[in-house]
Amino acid sequence: MLDILHVSPEVVPYSKTGGLADVLNALPRAQSRLGHRVSVVTPLYDAVDLARHRVVFAGHSFPVTLGGRTLDFEVAQADMGDGVTCRFLRNDELFGRPRLYGDGDADYGDNHLRFAFFCAAVFRMMRALRLRPDVVHGHDWQAGLVPAYNRLHLLDLVPTVLTVHNLAYQGQFPAHVLPEIGLPWEVFNPDGIEFYGKVNLLKAGLVWADRVTTVSPTYAAEVLRPEFGAGLEGVLRARGNEFVGILNGADYGIWDPRHDPRIAAPFEPEDLSGKAICRAALLDEMGLGSVQGPVFGVVGRLAAQKGFDLLAQAIPVIVAQGGVVVVLGTGDAAIEQAVLAAAAVHPGQVAVRIAYDDGLAHRIEAGSDFFLMPSRYEPCGLNQIYSMRYGTLPIVHAVGGLEDTVIDLDEHPDAGTGLKFRAFEVAAFLGTLERAFALHREGPRHLAAVRRAMAADFGWDVSARAYLELYQGIVARGGHPSGHQD
Ligand code: ADP
Repeated sequence: MLDILHVSPEVVPYSKTGGLADVLNALPRAQSRLGHRVSVVTPLYDAVDLARHRVVFAGHSFPVTLGGRTLDFEVAQADMGDGVTCRFLRNDELFGRPRLYGDGDADYGDNHLRFAFFCAAVFRMMRALRLRPDVVHGHDWQAGLVPAYNRLHLLDLVPTVLTVHNLAYQGQFPAHVLPEIGLPWEVFNPDGIEFYGKVNLLKAGLVWADRVTTVSPTYAAEVLRPEFGAGLEGVLRARGNEFVGILNGADYGIWDPRHDPRIAAPFEPEDLSGKAICRAALLDEMGLGSVQGPVFGVVGRLAAQKGFDLLAQAIPVIVAQGGVVVVLGTGDAAIEQAVLAAAAVHPGQVAVRIAYDDGLAHRIEAGSDFFLMPSRYEPCGLNQIYSMRYGTLPIVHAVGGLEDTVIDLDEHPDAGTGLKFRAFEVAAFLGTLERAFALHREGPRHLAAVRRAMAADFGWDVSARAYLELYQGIVARGGHPSGHQD
């Protein structure tokens, strides 16, 4: 049995801006169900609903000093289910704010301090609560200083893993912040935290963690190349086989049409009558009335990463053939405007909600016929996995986790679960939409694909075991005595 501590800036159900938060709910619980002792630590943001989630203050508080400045932290905790405890680190000056990372498009100016203090406070908490994890597993740049402090300040107290959920978000700050986050100038070099003259918190994690992972095997291979590596391809290549891709899973406790309280009617592969009800309810909710043609659903951050610029060009083509497009997302103002403008031309066939709405995300997955995910790059992606379970065939760009989870129907007629295009070009995307319309007209082939997609299994069990195997490698190798931290 291992004692595992996950360190993450977001955790469902307390805080969420993307797929990372979903992972931090499902992975720890899956590991716990396999018999390990698992806990999670995250900042206590204003957005966390203390009463609803029964967050209790444990009576522990301590000071943390970094770069000559001392701040006090308090520890709270809540039960995540399956035996997993989530601990919250509270400092209102840093985290008592309405948003996680910034207001609108502008990040908070002190994010380096916020997450440096968070990482330092994790180790202080371990001491105060006498926690002795066998491995500390950090997630994304906000946890990048966990491996750094562990190596540089604490003499490798504990084996560490860092998982990159999206290499494009690195936490880069001007060089002068280095003393504020408590690191010496000796590590400000290309083998350390320096990145083209800046401080890069993700890079710190990539350099000093015992193992580095990302969230799909294909993305792990792609990021070794300059097109996908966001400047860090050399750092990752240098890690050799200490850098691996482990596919994310889906939490079918939350995302399954058999028992989803947010959708109009339950359904299953053997009886899809509920899906027709969900489809009608979705069209009604979006003000579209009844339509014969296929419904194309979209849910996601409206960012360039997601390829939604292609979407604006695809909308007229879908509409011309009698299809309907339903979009839910927030993000980049220019992409929001482009999608809204395309929708305004076709009010009866295109509906757009610029919002973050978890219930509607479920209803779009349930009520659509196809799900569009033309991402430029995609570390793993969860929505295509959810859509398959809801019998909504994903149409995806064949990159990263999209390549690893969706099987193209024309390439593999007896195994296909969706449709893929390979070149990131409008013509290729539109060609795939043509294939979707053709499929929709062919009842039996479409139905067989829907049933196959619904039966595909991306549960967390396999991935949770893969992480455990990875931990075993570093715990055994290091032989870290768990007693020396007091
Ligand atoms: P990413 O992490 O890059 O944003 P993923 O596909 O891995 O993309 O995960 C996205 C998660 O966020 C999914 O659970 C999805 O349902 C949710 N999501 C994204 N945008 C919205 C939105 N506007 N409303 C509701 N849920 C959303």
